Amino acid sequence: RSGFVAIIGRPNVGKSTLINEMIGQKIAIMSDKPQTTRNKIHGVYTGDNYQIVFLDTPGIHKPQHKLGDFMNKSAVGTLGEVDAALFLIDAAEGLGGGDRFIIEQLKKVNTPVFLVMNKIDKIHPEALLPLITQYKELHDFAEIIPISALQGNNISTLLTVLTRYL
Ligand code: GDP
Ligand code: MG
Repeated sequence: RSGFVAIIGRPNVGKSTLINEMIGQKIAIMSDKPQTTRNKIHGVYTGDNYQIVFLDTPGIHKPQHKLGDFMNKSAVGTLGEVDAALFLIDAAEGLGGGDRFIIEQLKKVNTPVFLVMNKIDKIHPEALLPLITQYKELHDFAEIIPISALQGNNISTLLTVLTRYL
């Protein structure tokens, strides 16, 4: 089996760190150039009997100009074509305007979206449930998975659950 997975989220939520953790330092650092204009391959993860191609969707953020608007349409197009999308949030920062804009884009496609709650190493465990409730009110997420990309917590679970969507 194989499939395509888009990784989306505001700057600094930990997208690159997650990619590093899943596929390995080299590929992610190579593809982590700023100002990327098109959807691009972050890297390919090869599991025991499956492969996942991770795609970056840099234009998914709120457009500031015409080019941004074009990029946003292209990013939404990509979102509609992947098998699943990982929507990363910073659990320590909570729900912000940037997240709300991305969620509006997610509603334009039928793609299953994982709410990936990153940086749980920075929060009190009791803070997680209220945050989940807040996000669930905004969108019907296919899966909700708390992780720490930095510490490598729950990454294997994330990959295992992802394989069900390939
Ligand atoms: P990106 O802009 O979404 O690609 O975010 P980065 O992967 O560059 O991460 C932004 C910052 O958050 C970096 O300083 C990371 O070390 C930090 N970071 C990423 N994941 C975690 C995490 O799980 N826990 C903590 N405490 N910091 C994290
Ligand atoms: Mg990055």
